[in-house]
Amino acid sequence: MTIPNVITIDGPAGAGKSTLGELLAQQLGYMYFDTGVMYRALTLAVLRESIDPNASDAVAALAERLHIEVQPPTVDDGRQYTVLIDGEDVTWHLRDPEVEKHVSAAARHPDVRNVMRARQREIGARGHVVMVGRDIGNVVMPDAELKIFLKASLEERARRRADELHTRGQHVAPDALRADMQRRDMLDQHVMIPAPDAVVLDCDHLSPEQEVAFVTSLLEKRVR
Ligand code: C5P
Repeated sequence: MTIPNVITIDGPAGAGKSTLGELLAQQLGYMYFDTGVMYRALTLAVLRESIDPNASDAVAALAERLHIEVQPPTVDDGRQYTVLIDGEDVTWHLRDPEVEKHVSAAARHPDVRNVMRARQREIGARGHVVMVGRDIGNVVMPDAELKIFLKASLEERARRRADELHTRGQHVAPDALRADMQRRDMLDQHVMIPAPDAVVLDCDHLSPEQEVAFVTSLLEKRVR
């Protein structure tokens, strides 16, 4: 068997999906595609248009109409990707507190998910991609040859996120981060189901480098 054409990484907020996904994509020369940014971009547009994130029809109609593009980084400013909404670069707005607060509500509507999943499948179908999200292995790309599901305790995820923000000069109390993650875990749990053939990796005691080494060892076993 050759290296899988599509690798999926799912799991809760703060489990380290984006760090692992980006490192792995770099190592393989694959595209790194974080599907969460599509839901974030949609939520930003929902808030800008003063739509209620709970109004499923209005949010789905906007999802249909919006042109969300996820590209490799176009500016060398530390970003992992560039995200455009109808041509406007919104990359640095996707982590705004208001987006963070409402994204899970906007993402939970089945009609919204259908639109997003169809677009994600188009990108996945091009291959040579590491796709990161919540439902990618189980629903979006069930035929992907390698599916990883990351697990980590709430404490560890909040600690990692606090460290990550700290390195960017932002100081947020771990308690506040923990509470927000717990809230999002609750809202996201209905879509966050590991695929039956996913490799579940408990990351509490693993560094990102150890995670990459583990996934690389899985790939080597398959290639052999
Ligand atoms: O991964 P990230 O934390 O950026 O995702 C933001 C939100 O988008 C999640 O909390 C979840 O509500 C939603 N999401 C989703 N399905 C995905 C990726 C993200 O519902 N595949």
